[in-house]
Amino acid sequence: MKESVILQCDDVTVEFDGFKAIQGMNLKLEKGELRFLIGPNGAGKTTMLDVICGKVRPSSGKVTFDGKVDITRKKEHQIAGLGIGRKFQAPSIFPSMTVHENLEIAMRQKRTVFATMFAKMGDDERSRIDHQLGMIGLRSKASWRAGGLSHGEKQWLEIGMMLLQEPEILLLDEPVAGMTDKETDKTGELLHEIAQLRSIVVVEHDMEFVRNFASKVTVMHEGKLLKEGSMDEVQGDDRVAEVYLGK
Ligand code: ADP
Repeated sequence: MKESVILQCDDVTVEFDGFKAIQGMNLKLEKGELRFLIGPNGAGKTTMLDVICGKVRPSSGKVTFDGKVDITRKKEHQIAGLGIGRKFQAPSIFPSMTVHENLEIAMRQKRTVFATMFAKMGDDERSRIDHQLGMIGLRSKASWRAGGLSHGEKQWLEIGMMLLQEPEILLLDEPVAGMTDKETDKTGELLHEIAQLRSIVVVEHDMEFVRNFASKVTVMHEGKLLKEGSMDEVQGDDRVAEVYLGK
């Protein structure tokens, strides 16, 4: 395995009561890659994310993290601990706390020694939160109650919370669903910025967003890999047009 491969799924199959939701799926993610996972409803995209983060166990196949760690049968918290963060559609933030407090909590979750969770914040931590606030565009709203943010801002806050836990890989499920056009564009830019340091897999239905921001796309259909490549390559593929447009 090449050293730059951060995640590799080999021949992954997932069965639910005998129904094969994923059938021999392969996926290879390079370090610092922003990959879009697309496909019609029921293609198996969410289940793939579930397999990677340990929520669903594959019936066969292998998932390898960072070229050497077999995470196929590891538990969700172990996989999270290795540095694979998952964000679901609904933001899990603390609405009655401020934006800053939400980020503090996220950062403290990263700490392993229980006693230090209650220690005073150091300058280093303060500056990390400040950097994160800038990155997600919420510095001017640091003292706002998180519940008072717009839908897009809540999503960015949650992404900021994930980043403070320093994951190697972020798994995002439809991050721009329900966002305005402006928020969607801002999210695309944010994902590109994050991908300078980390790797991201995004399950996405918004094709315009994918077209505007994806460099590499994986198309799934009926639990299998249908096509992989640039957006142009994917769009020019007859089989992809067939599953999307029923041609
Ligand atoms: P996608 O995210 O591409 O829309 P999913 O991964 O959610 O697709 O689902 C793939 C297939 O697996 C679908 O047919 C879905 O109904 C089925 N499926 C997903 N989760 C379960 C489950 N927990 N039990 C039974 N079937 C499931």
